[in-house]
Amino acid sequence: MLERVSTFQNNGPILYLVATPIGNLKEMSPRALEILNDVDLIACEDTRNTRRLLHHFNYQKELFSLHAHNEKEASKVIISLLKEGKKIAYVSDAGYPLISDPGRFLAQEARKNQIPIAVINGPSAFLMALIASNLASDRFFFHGFLPVKSGDRRKELEKFKDFPYTTIYYEAPHRLKSTLNDFLKVFGASRRLTLARELTKVHEEYIYGTIGEIFELLKEEELKGEIVLVVEGKEKEQNTISSSLLSDLENELENYSPSVAVKNIAKKYQLPRGDIYKEYLKLKEKK
Ligand code: SAM
Repeated sequence: MLERVSTFQNNGPILYLVATPIGNLKEMSPRALEILNDVDLIACEDTRNTRRLLHHFNYQKELFSLHAHNEKEASKVIISLLKEGKKIAYVSDAGYPLISDPGRFLAQEARKNQIPIAVINGPSAFLMALIASNLASDRFFFHGFLPVKSGDRRKELEKFKDFPYTTIYYEAPHRLKSTLNDFLKVFGASRRLTLARELTKVHEEYIYGTIGEIFELLKEEELKGEIVLVVEGKEKEQNTISSSLLSDLENELENYSPSVAVKNIAKKYQLPRGDIYKEYLKLKEKK
C-alpha cells in the first residue's frame, strides 16, 4: 500500500526517533533538545542514562523504558499512547536508535498503525568512522556487531571475504583481539583496516594500517573504549597490491616464460592464476 506522510504538517500523534551524542554532549543538537522538551513522553533504552542526559541540559521529563528485552510489550503501550494523540520521542543510549540499538519493532508498529515517524538527526559512530577511515566511502556496508563466538564470527565474515566495498563493524574492546584474529584468517593480513575509537571523546583516536599491522599492535597494547572497525573491500585491495604485483610480474617475465611467470606470481600473491594471466595480457597489450 502506497503511503505519503508529511512529518512537519502534522497535528496528530507522531513518533520521533531522536539521535543523541555518542560521547560528546556538545553534539546534542538544538533541534533534538527542542523535540525532547516538546513531546509528552520520552521512551528510552535506559532511563538512568537518558535522565543523566536530560539533567545535563536542565530538562525534566517523564521517561518510559523500552529496551531489547521488553521491546514488544513496551511498544504496545507506546502505540496505544500515540493513538490517544500523544507525541512521543524514542532515544537509545547513544547515537541513532535502531542502529545496533532497539527501536525497530516500535517504528514498525507505528507505521502499521499509520503513525508518522520523524527522525531527528545527530551523531553516528559508524558514519564518522567511515568518513575518517581514508577508505572508499562511495559504497559501503554497515554490519554492526558480529557474532560473539569466533566460529560463528568467521562464518559471518566469510560472506564478506570477496565483497568489493568497505565494510563497517562495531566491536567491544574485550573481543577486539579475537575479532582481529578472525579478520586475519578471513580477509588476510594485507587488507587495509581503520580502527576508530572513543569518537568525539577526549581519547578519540584513529589507527590506520593493515589488518596484520593492527593485529601486531594489539599484542603489545590493549585498546580500550568504544570501537568501530572499517575494513577495505576486496576490489580496492587488489588495486593496492597490483602495482607491486605488476612490477614483480614484469621481473618474472624477463627471466621465465609467461606461463611460469604467471604461475610464480599467482603462488607468491596467493591469487588465482587466471587473474594474473589477465594482468599479463594487459602488460602485453601495452608493449
Ligand atoms: N546506536 C549507536 C549508533 O548509532 O552508532 C550504536 C550503539 S551500539 C550498542 C554501541 C557500539 O557503537 C559500540 O560498541 C561501538 O562499537 C560503537 N560506538 C558507539 N559510540 C562510539 C564512540 N564514541 N566511539 C567509537 N565507537 C562507538
